[in-house]
This record gives sequence, structure tokens and C-alpha cells, in this order.
Amino acid sequence: MTEHNPDDPLKAAERDIIALGIAVAAIILLIGTAGPVLPQTMAALLGEGRQPDVVLVNALLLNIALIIFGWRRYRELTREIAERRRAEARAQLLAATDPLTQCLNRRSMLEATEELRGRAAVRGEAVAYCMIDLDNFKQINDMHGHSAGDAVLVMLCERIRALLPREARLARLGGDEFAFVMPYPAGHADRVDDLVIRLFESMTQPFRMPELTVELTMSIGLAADHDADGTIGLVVDSATLMHRADMALYHAKKQGRNRYFWFEASMESELRFRNQLETGIRRGLARGEFLPFYEQQVDLETGALVGFEMLARWRSPQLGLISPDIFVPIAEEIGLINEMSERLMEQAFADAREWDDSLTLSINISPVQLRDPWFAQRLLKKLVAANFPPRRLEIEITESCLHENIGLVRSMIMSLRNQGVQIALDDFGTGYSSLEQLRNLPFDRIKIDRSFVSELKDPSNRSRIVEAIISLGRGLDLPLTAEGVEDEAILNALRSMGRLKAQGYFYGQPEDAEGVRSRLKAAGKLTGMPGDAAAQRTAGEDEPTLYRIARP
Ligand code: C2E
Ligand code: CA
Ligand code: CA
Repeated sequence: MTEHNPDDPLKAAERDIIALGIAVAAIILLIGTAGPVLPQTMAALLGEGRQPDVVLVNALLLNIALIIFGWRRYRELTREIAERRRAEARAQLLAATDPLTQCLNRRSMLEATEELRGRAAVRGEAVAYCMIDLDNFKQINDMHGHSAGDAVLVMLCERIRALLPREARLARLGGDEFAFVMPYPAGHADRVDDLVIRLFESMTQPFRMPELTVELTMSIGLAADHDADGTIGLVVDSATLMHRADMALYHAKKQGRNRYFWFEASMESELRFRNQLETGIRRGLARGEFLPFYEQQVDLETGALVGFEMLARWRSPQLGLISPDIFVPIAEEIGLINEMSERLMEQAFADAREWDDSLTLSINISPVQLRDPWFAQRLLKKLVAANFPPRRLEIEITESCLHENIGLVRSMIMSLRNQGVQIALDDFGTGYSSLEQLRNLPFDRIKIDRSFVSELKDPSNRSRIVEAIISLGRGLDLPLTAEGVEDEAILNALRSMGRLKAQGYFYGQPEDAEGVRSRLKAAGKLTGMPGDAAAQRTAGEDEPTLYRIARP
């Protein structure tokens, strides 16, 4: 009897109404018939009266049966309704929560934020929305597997939850992205700061699992629907609030991660500018607006030009000549660095083939490029295609490359070196490479970062760091290049420190291929015939050429 088509609740409800109607009618009938029939039947049973009317007795029995039927149906109905409600609630919960952490999910967070803002508004309170992103979570997943990653996320959620006020709502927006929304007394945003600071403190404790212990950092972006002075801000809806927290988070990431920022209006314009740059870079790459510039590298002792470092430039028709410090990080982020770098290399190989065969070409390689396991193969292929001798190429990698996948980097370095390419460790001293890495990785050269070299500007100022790096290089038998040689004072200070290569504005600003061509032509160091450098060289040109000081 309880069977019903679950897909057709209308039918079931209709039948339920009929059942209820029958039961009610049966009760009315019972009242009508039971009055005369019941005493008669009782008397007949006791042998004291005449037989009651059979039709009426049957009607009475039918009535009773119908009432029992109706009652049972009613009970089944209430049970069914309760069950359906439970199932609905379960489905709703599943649709609204993240199955791993039991937090809200992206879908339900918007509604939860709306609700909380509504409640807070009634009490005259402000609401803060906080976006959280883990800084190094991918590494944990990659190194220890997804189950370890999942366990960390669950523990993290517990830590966050433990700090949140009762009314706050926590959501996992996806992957390693979380958010919470909390009310606070308007004008007291410092309460939110306090909470966030405690959250950062809690992150200093490593996440312990039976098999391993991992450390995590996070970046946080905050936005509030009230201004700092407690007045209601211009935020119109929850979506805007979330978007602002997102921009603040992006800012925190850009500032170097493991920190938090409140949203500020300037972030929005910065982001707009960045998006313009991004579009410009995509377009510029398609239009060939990226070109190599070259900075001279000189033997400090003899003053001879020994090679060039290629430095990328973007000649944007709208913005002018742009430095790689601006566009390289964006190209890395939007996945264009490989393409950009390969185009620049092709141009640089073509340019450098016209130079004297003794001149080397140094190229900066981004850590992002080294994540590609085929990087070395692709580079070697390019060298072959350009007919450029590998021994004339030096690639510069920074210490940050060494944090990522040291095994992969090592094997790449090995295969490039096997072909004769030289490997230099750039910006040495600014990262965290250990002595161990320096000893184990087969570098051919260390480049002393210009921030240290510039300390030598003041003749009375000895740079202990430069001295330390130089003696380290000697100890490890590694040649050194000092970058950022800007003036004679620096030059003289370096000269007293032994044999080095040097580069910097003292020898001239980086120039484009044409500039280098005329410079080399004047010095008789241009082969004139691309790719045929060695054959063209005359004995006299093997002498080191002293370079005139070309100040900017
Ligand atoms: P870097 O490798 O440290 O390059 C040296 C930077 O210092 C260059 O800036 C150069 O113009 C500047 N410089 C040279 N001499 C002096 C000096 O005497 N004083 C001062 N103050 N600065 C000097 P640039 O060209 O803006 O390059 C910035 C960074 O961009 C480079 O730093 C390098 O890490 C990166 N980069 C350049 N080209 C490429 C490229 O093609 N690919 C990749 N991945 N990164 C590149
Ligand atoms: Ca460099
Ligand atoms: Ca450098």
C-alpha cells in the first residue's frame, strides 16, 4: 500500500488525500451507524435481543476496517514525509559542502555570506571576507601524494575552525583555496587582524602525520563591507566583497606570499594595469615586439671583451621600451615564458653567429622553464638548428631554480654540460642555495649579485659579502663574474680581489643587436658572415681588445 512512484509526488499526494477522505467518511458513517447497530449487536451476542440488520452490521465492520486503513495510511504518510525531508536535507548538505573537509563549498559560500551580512546588518555589525590560499601546497601533493595533501587540508580546516567566532562560515573554494566570512563590530577591523595573525601563528606549527611532517605557509586577502572608521562602505553585494578579497590575496601573493593584506582601491587599478600588460604581452609576442639586448662582459684584468649577456626587452608601441623585471614575471605566470625565451634565443643565436667566435653568449633562464623536463633537449635542438656552437653558450640560472626539483635540474645541467654548454649560478647570495648544493651541482661559474657589488662604491667600504663569495668561489674552484660594475671605484676594488669577469654600466648600457654590431665592427670582431666566424678570424684579432668606456 505504501508503494508509490517516487518520481510522481503529485500522484502520491492525491492518493493520500483520497485515503484521508475515506477515513474521515468512515468515521462519520461509524458515528451514524454505530448508534443503533452497536447496542443491537451486543444484545444479540448476549442472546438478549433480536438479530441486528446484516447490512448494517456489514456496514459497521466496513467502517471499522476503513478507519484502521486510514489510520495506518496516515502513519505511513507521516513516516514517509519525515524520510523525504531527511533525504532532501542530506542532498542539500551534500550540494552545499565540500566532501573532504565538510566546510561549505564555493556554491554555498555566496549564499552564506549574504545571510551573514543580512544578520550583521540588523545588528549594525560589519562583515569581513577572508580569502586564503596555501603557498606551497602543490609541492606537498607532488612530493607526498594526494592522500597526504588531503590529510593536510583536513587538519588545516580544523585549525582555522578552532580560531573562528561561532557565527563565522568557512568554505573550501577548491584545491587549496579557502575562505571565511565573519561579523565584527564596525570600526574594529583590528579584531579581524588579530584573528588572522593568530591564524598565521598557528601555521608555524608543522602538520604532523604518522609518516611525515610538512610545513605550510598561506597568503590571505581581506575585504570588509565597512570602512576602517566604521561607516558603511560602498560594497554593494557579497560578490563584490569576495572579488575584493581576491584582489587583496593576489596582492599578498605578489608581495612574496606568507602575508596578508586588506583590500585597497589601488589594488584594483594595479590589477587593471596588469591585465593590460598581459594582453599587451600576448599581442607583442605575436607581433615580434620582444627583442634581445646585450650587455658586455669583460675580463677585469685585461679589459678584453669576452662575451655578452642577453637581456630581453619589450619594445611596446604604446608603452615604449620595457624592462624584463616587468614582463618576465607576467610571462611566467601566464605560461608564455618558454615561447618568449625560445624566440629571443633564436634571435640571439642568429646575432651572435656574426660575432667573433671567441665571444660567449649568456642567456637567463627562468625557473619556470626548468620545470619542463624537455628543456635541455629543446635547447640543444635549437643550437643545432641555429648552427651555434654549444661551447659559446652559457645559461644563467638563479638559486630559486634549485628549490624546486633539484633532481630534474641536476640532470638537465648534466646533459647541457655534456654538450659543452656552460652553466652559471646567477644572483648568487640572494637566494638560499646551500654550500652542499654548490658542491654537488656542477656549475661552471658564480655570478655575484649586483646588490653586493654596489657596496664597493664607497672606497672606504669593504664588502665582506663580496670577499666571502670570492673566497668561496676560489675554494670551490669556480670562476666568478661580478655584475653591476657601475664605476671606477667598484672596478678598482674588484681588481684587488683577483681574477674576475665583470659587467655593468661602467662598460656601457645594454644595447640592441645593431649597437653590438657596430661596436664589434669597430673592434674588428665581426665576422660579417653569420656562422663562419672561426674561418674569418685573423691572427691579429686574437689579441684582447680594450674597450673604451661608453657611459650612458
Ligand atoms: P640579471 O640577470 O641580474 O641582469 C642584470 C640586470 O642588471 C639587467 O637588468 C641589467 O640591465 C642591469 N644592470 C647591468 N649593469 C648594471 C649596473 O651597472 N648597475 C645597475 N644598477 N644595473 C645594471 P635588466 O635587463 O632589467 O634585467 C633584469 C633581470 O631580468 C635580469 O637580471 C634577468 O634576471 C631577467 N632577464 C633578462 N632577460 C631575460 C630573459 O631573456 N629571460 C629570463 N628568464 N629572464 C631575463
Ligand atoms: Ca643574469
Ligand atoms: Ca644578476
